[in-house]
Amino acid sequence: MQFVRYTTGSTPQWGVRRDDEIVPLAGLREDVTYQQLTDGGFLNVVEDAADAAAEQAVPVEKARLLAPVPRPGKIVCVGLNYHDHAEEQDKGVPERPLLFGKSDTSVTNPGDPIVNPSEVEELDYEVELGVVIGRTAKDVNASEAREYVAGYTAINDVSARDAQFEDGQYLRGKSYDTFAPMGPTLVPDEHIDPNTLDVACRVNGETLQESNTEQFIFDVNEVVEYISGIMTLRPGDVISTGTPGGVGIFRDPPELLEAGDEIDVEIEGIGTLTNHVVDE
Ligand code: MG
Repeated sequence: MQFVRYTTGSTPQWGVRRDDEIVPLAGLREDVTYQQLTDGGFLNVVEDAADAAAEQAVPVEKARLLAPVPRPGKIVCVGLNYHDHAEEQDKGVPERPLLFGKSDTSVTNPGDPIVNPSEVEELDYEVELGVVIGRTAKDVNASEAREYVAGYTAINDVSARDAQFEDGQYLRGKSYDTFAPMGPTLVPDEHIDPNTLDVACRVNGETLQESNTEQFIFDVNEVVEYISGIMTLRPGDVISTGTPGGVGIFRDPPELLEAGDEIDVEIEGIGTLTNHVVDE
């Protein structure tokens, strides 16, 4: 089941995507919350509600899709988390996940522009599986970690490499407004295995990243265990789990983003998140 946040006018609402249609969930007695997505009983209620509302479905092209988590409490990112991405940088496999932050205000919607700031010359893409937290998690074990996850979405961890490398830490280079496109759907943990998904990134139709989350150095369970051992994770927090090899800055020659470029970030079972670049 693919949840979507969308609008056909001005009011954001939740729906379920079925093929090329969105079934509205306006008739549900309870609001859709990240915590509810951890409850199998609630997911059954949603399935029935979507069946009942099937005649009210709207074609996807008539809806504006929105980021499934528009205002995350925090975004915790994992660097160097695919074997092939560590190799392209000649870096060894890290002993523990490398964590950094991305501003919550960097989130943007599917289809909206990625704004390239005037001072940035090295704009880059990164396909990443996003983990949306559904229950407050502190000191959870890997074996139980998935019980705390609402579901999964796709994130483009847009990066200003010049800012990232000049600063020697990541916050500025990762946090400009619009640097976290997110969507197009949110798939409950119960309905997908996050550790066996094909992931890809295309720029203007050319595939530049192609991998599978089986390449994770630390899988979703281990990442949630590690982060929750450091900080409390709350419903609506987002973990961006790192990117595979093939990012623009490490290509030979580098292939960085320019105004007019269209980026597709695709994750199996979640869909394709498309955004284009404009200059500030
Ligand atoms: Mg990243």
